[in-house]
Amino acid sequence: MTETVTKVRKEYQTDSLDEFVTNASSELHAEITAAELHYSGSLDTSPVLKAELHPTLSSSMDRAKDQCVNVDMEERGGVIFEKEGNFEFVYFDNVHHGASIAKCLYQPDIDKFGEVMHTYLLGNWKFYGSFHTHPLFSEQFSSVDFQNLFQGFRVNYIYSVKNDILAKYTWSKNIKKLNKTIIVE
Ligand SMILES: [Zn+2]
Repeated sequence: MTETVTKVRKEYQTDSLDEFVTNASSELHAEITAAELHYSGSLDTSPVLKAELHPTLSSSMDRAKDQCVNVDMEERGGVIFEKEGNFEFVYFDNVHHGASIAKCLYQPDIDKFGEVMHTYLLGNWKFYGSFHTHPLFSEQFSSVDFQNLFQGFRVNYIYSVKNDILAKYTWSKNIKKLNKTIIVE
């Protein structure tokens, strides 16, 4: 458990969803400055048509949305594996499932993650990227997304359920630069 999460959890023990979202929003989903990000250059690139994606990547996005969007407004997600140009989304429970913090924070359950990851890697699948939802926020990544999730994957997708926007964040090779691409239907 990271320090940030422990702190956020402690601070946002409230029954009021509105109050919770307002507090959590300012803490977790605040704008992150360029200095904090350590990236240079522009974040935004031209939108990409979903139809232009590899068919298995496109269908992985559909499956990810189907499995992760929920009436409890919890953030959910998983990992996309790649093998010989084909892609497969694997759902991973949010370690915060059932707690109010799950509405504004996704962190994969590391125990289950280890087991499944082992199976896929033995089958010669490689990590391609992460995917998670933001039911109550925009497609912008949170500070915890950046500090934890994004450090583990070269490609990271965030689907804002609220705005129906799918964003892809990709680290450039060699230089620490994060590119953002919106994927449109
Ligand atoms: Zn997030």
